[in-house]
Amino acid sequence: MSDTIFAKIIRREIPADIVYEDEQCLAFKDVSPQAPVHILLIPLKPIAKLADATSEDQALLGHLMLVARKIAADQGIGDAFRLVVNNGEGASQTVFHLHIHILGGRSLSWPPG
Ligand code: AMP
Repeated sequence: MSDTIFAKIIRREIPADIVYEDEQCLAFKDVSPQAPVHILLIPLKPIAKLADATSEDQALLGHLMLVARKIAADQGIGDAFRLVVNNGEGASQTVFHLHIHILGGRSLSWPPG
């Protein structure tokens, strides 16, 4: 996998507003927020996109979901939030390091568009 801006954030080569960190993942505020709360949660492991994850990543992916829930609660949006994973260019993925968008703090309509 080629180097990405998120790998640079993990290595602290570029700044980010980090809100959560543990031995498996890192979360920081999206630089272009689409909602009052917009956090990106990434694994430290450089998986380019969800389609590249394997059964070896099962525990990691489950961990990310539980951490996303915790971050939503910590950010005060625990009752209403949305998780988004864009997979591939056709789904508007622009950074090829797996990430979960955690969105909330406003009314979230459906379908998302
Ligand atoms: P995606 O389109 O799903 O790949 O999402 C990539 C997200 O990364 C976008 O919402 C960008 O606003 C966000 N982003 C890009 N560069 C940075 C950065 N340096 N710090 C924080 N968020 C970023």
